[in-house]
Amino acid sequence: MRLAKLAESLADSATLRLNATAARLKAEGEPVIHLGGGEPESPAPAAAVRAARELLDKGTVKYTATPGIPMLRQTIASQVEQEFGRPTKQAEVLVTAGAKPAIYAALVAVLDPGDEVVFPSPFWVSYPEMVRLAGGVPVPVTAVDGGFEPRIEDIEAALTDRTRMMILNSPNNPSGAVYSEGLVAAVVELCERRGLFLLADEIYRRLVFDGRTAPGALCYSRESGDEGRVILVDGVSKMFGMTGFRVGWAVASRRVIEVMGNIIGQTMSCASAVGQVAALAALREESSYVEELRRDLQGRRDLLVRELATIPGVRLTPPAGTFYSMPDFSAIAPASEPLSAFLLQHTRVVTVPGKDFGCEGHLRISYCGPAADVVEGIRRIRWALDQSSPQEIEFGGRVHVRDWDAPV
Ligand code: PMP
Ligand code: GLU
Repeated sequence: MRLAKLAESLADSATLRLNATAARLKAEGEPVIHLGGGEPESPAPAAAVRAARELLDKGTVKYTATPGIPMLRQTIASQVEQEFGRPTKQAEVLVTAGAKPAIYAALVAVLDPGDEVVFPSPFWVSYPEMVRLAGGVPVPVTAVDGGFEPRIEDIEAALTDRTRMMILNSPNNPSGAVYSEGLVAAVVELCERRGLFLLADEIYRRLVFDGRTAPGALCYSRESGDEGRVILVDGVSKMFGMTGFRVGWAVASRRVIEVMGNIIGQTMSCASAVGQVAALAALREESSYVEELRRDLQGRRDLLVRELATIPGVRLTPPAGTFYSMPDFSAIAPASEPLSAFLLQHTRVVTVPGKDFGCEGHLRISYCGPAADVVEGIRRIRWALDQSSPQEIEFGGRVHVRDWDAPV
């Protein structure tokens, strides 16, 4: 059977694939520890559940306006205005079925075939594939020092006549890095100087540790109103643990939002009405939920940093936000895919290979699950990789023997 070449060439989402693998193994009764996850374990905020239930009880669940329920758009606009100190109107907000469609619609709105999109590496797995689907060419930029924040010179050097857009994702999935104010400000300035759109994916903005805040791109923009080139993407998936409700949004100039709205209207109609009323209730009533989640995650981050430090050869730049970390395993095993498969096979611990994020030699390890899973997961990884640890370990109700010399 012949399918479209572009579609056939798409990679599946490594993060979603590994979620599915973890769920399947768990269902088969395997003693799985899922350190590959991308969603907080906590249930949705009570106000969100209540609002969804009230709508369902009425039984009248219909299409909403394509750009979203007016009250939700207004609430998002008001919160953006308050947070970034920029006048923001309802017409500058588009609600979508999760942040993913907002990103995709932004790419389709901006790119002509062959246009280039520049973004720092490591990057979230879906950016390159979404850029390609929208007809563009992904151009990742790696930090020269092997760190997680590229220099502005290197970003500028990656721009060509075909560059139309940049993506900046801070706090960053997968590294947990929060880009410095200097970098964010310089990227905004660069985009505005060169007439590029800047997609600022700030979906983890509120999940930042140690009293820091994540510099938001909109704070540094000197263009406003219809001239604005920043497309802010956010949503309830991460900060409220509401991944399954499928509600995200974009905030951008009226013209960009209008065109993105046409794309959504012709392909997806609108986000679910149930999800939208739930998102509205969460945004209006549940700010303490986000703070509690943030504090919990910081505690688990500390635990992860402490536990990982006990594995010889593993190097970690402690994450400053999100619920991901990107430890460097290259001194133990240079190739992340076989290493991740090896750990799954011998320890039943799920991780995501760094290769899928443009960061070979690393594994993405999440700490969005229970604290006990972080400790147990790292205990098993240490047993598998550290030859000086005891040969035997017990998990899943039986004793396992380390009977290999080197991991991969
Ligand atoms: N951006 C980043 C950086 C993400 O990690 C995710 C994870 N899902 C998304 C966007 C998409 O979020 P959503 O589930 O709301 O589509
Ligand atoms: N964004 C999360 C992750 O990176 C969820 C899965 C996905 O949408 O990719 O794991």
